[in-house]
Amino acid sequence: DPARLIDPEKRGEDAEASLRPQTLDDFTGQAEARANLKIFIEAAKARGEALDHVLFVGPPGLGKTTLAQIMAKELGVNFRATSGPVIAKAGDLAALLTNLEERDVLFIDEIHRLSPAVEEILYPAMEDFQLDLIIGEGPAARSVKIDLAKFTLVAATTRLGLLTTPLRDRFGIPVRLNFYTVAELESIVRRGARIMGLPMTEDGALEVARRARGTPRIAGRLLRRVRDFAEVARAEAVDRKVADEALTRLEVDALGLDQLDRRYLFMIAKNFGGGPVGIETIAAGLSEPRDAIEDIIEPYLIQQGFIQRTPRGRVLTANAWKHLGLNAPKDLEA
Ligand code: ADP
Repeated sequence: DPARLIDPEKRGEDAEASLRPQTLDDFTGQAEARANLKIFIEAAKARGEALDHVLFVGPPGLGKTTLAQIMAKELGVNFRATSGPVIAKAGDLAALLTNLEERDVLFIDEIHRLSPAVEEILYPAMEDFQLDLIIGEGPAARSVKIDLAKFTLVAATTRLGLLTTPLRDRFGIPVRLNFYTVAELESIVRRGARIMGLPMTEDGALEVARRARGTPRIAGRLLRRVRDFAEVARAEAVDRKVADEALTRLEVDALGLDQLDRRYLFMIAKNFGGGPVGIETIAAGLSEPRDAIEDIIEPYLIQQGFIQRTPRGRVLTANAWKHLGLNAPKDLEA
């Protein structure tokens, strides 16, 4: 559903880049990842070498692209960005790689969606900074090696399990990003409101933060929608009441779940007695692609303790039954 308000996937709005933090110090949350990156960046700079290849893993909208940009800036090098599905042929990647300068950052989003032929080109590039190309066809074909600048590949993926092992092994610095706490999101929302020139009370910011699904991209989107409501209602400031009215009208509930999340939970409750139920069955029941369910809906529901993944399928927890206002089956009430 392209109109889904809490969809954490990228849309054009990120181009409205004013809310994007520009430095590591400006970046809220992910304290551990940030501290580690800071050390690796300083060490690489002191040695005058390219930083090791970095792999960001985590749900969409948590700041993987933002951190990649910040890293290039802090390293004082160029930033080039592309994404797995965009690189159709080996030659496309070769063109990108041969244009890099020493120590540049090449960012590849959705790296799990690279084609195998393109991945083949990437291995020697990452390991030996060399391109192995086959030129010509048939008996006249020959292989040539081209030296590349020593660059840093920064890649992002939503799920580590989708990466091939040889690719995964070539990243010296794996970094996992986690959902943000409400307090972290609150400070992101306040910063956003400040940049937008939107008057907002503390409890207003807290309300938006609580309903942002642990995800800065969603916090930014909710903030923009709340601003629309506040302007139309001629509210002096966004307080808890204004934020709550706006978000309730947009069908984002107190925990940030929307219609699709609730459909997901209700279906397991009503049609499958709370599970276990397999992901394919859920996907068919919701008419949503399996990938979207696993990447976008489930990580937050798992983090909130609403569902569990078991070998036999998804199971609703007692918490979920409670949130839906339904009676849990007897054996769950412990
Ligand atoms: P990803 O690449 O993980 O999908 P992005 O880096 O594109 O996520 O970030 C999504 C949006 O959220 C961007 O608009 C960015 O400005 C904002 N954002 C991400 N992380 C933070 C943060 N820590 N503080 C403030 N804004 C953030």
